[in-house]
Amino acid sequence: MINFDFHGKTVLVTGASRGIGKAIAFAFASANARVAIHYHQQRDITEQFRDTLAGEGHIVVGADLANPIAIAEMVNKIIAEFGQIDILVNNAGIYQQHPLDQTSYQDWQEIWQQNLNINLLGAVNLTYCVAKYMMQQQSGRIINITSRGAFRGEPTATAYGASKAALNSFTQSLAQHLAQYKIFVTAVAPGFVETDMTRELLSSPAGDGIRQQSPLNRVAKPEEIAQTVLFLAAPGSEFLTGSIVDVNGASYLRS
Ligand code: NAP
Repeated sequence: MINFDFHGKTVLVTGASRGIGKAIAFAFASANARVAIHYHQQRDITEQFRDTLAGEGHIVVGADLANPIAIAEMVNKIIAEFGQIDILVNNAGIYQQHPLDQTSYQDWQEIWQQNLNINLLGAVNLTYCVAKYMMQQQSGRIINITSRGAFRGEPTATAYGASKAALNSFTQSLAQHLAQYKIFVTAVAPGFVETDMTRELLSSPAGDGIRQQSPLNRVAKPEEIAQTVLFLAAPGSEFLTGSIVDVNGASYLRS
């Protein structure tokens, strides 16, 4: 493990109550950053998690990322506490199965709307609010957690795949626009990771087939995604701006 040092830096990680976001928040705190740990519903476990972190001054912030007003309020609260946000990790997301041939028209619309509202517009609106401060600072890192599904396809979760493909595109466009402010924007596209999102599927009869998608015959641990996020946030990684980094154990290769 590379030893990163983010002393003096502040970080906002969304969806950090559980899974990948929790591992990212843990890794930043262990590397001496102050972390704003975002949750949606799981306030108690997020506060308990905060109390286990290395270092001091970490805060817990709640918001439904489908609500643009709640996003703006959350950013104001973090700025009031931290003074600035140096690193934003847009990690929160939802995954819902909705095969077209088994989904009612009404459910189809609701699921598409939810996926776009949380996975895409949540990250887009939060980025807008945080980037306004980063532009004044003339520095910042924004790292979006997307998915292998954006490239490989999500046959039974089309809205999820589309929301992540759009977030990849947003990453690329914004990297070009925000470079003038010394704000660097990247994405991490994991394959399957051991979290609540995948637990049921990975322990089902389909689990072995999923693990075999990688020649390593396993899925990723959340800490492996965190490692890449810290690398992208670290000094010296600026020229990676606009990149989408695959962390999928060679389960899906693109060139
Ligand atoms: P997870 O364990 O299901 O956790 C989801 C997180 O998102 C939780 O912190 C949850 O907060 C938060 N969240 C859910 N709905 C929200 C909303 N409306 N507003 C704000 N926050 C909300 O997910 P994960 O597996 O760690 O995934 C994290 C990210 O990685 C997601 O963007 C996911 O798409 C991506 N990803 C995951 C995998 C995988 O295999 N796991 C693969 C590729 C990409 P509460 O706990 O408070 O509800």
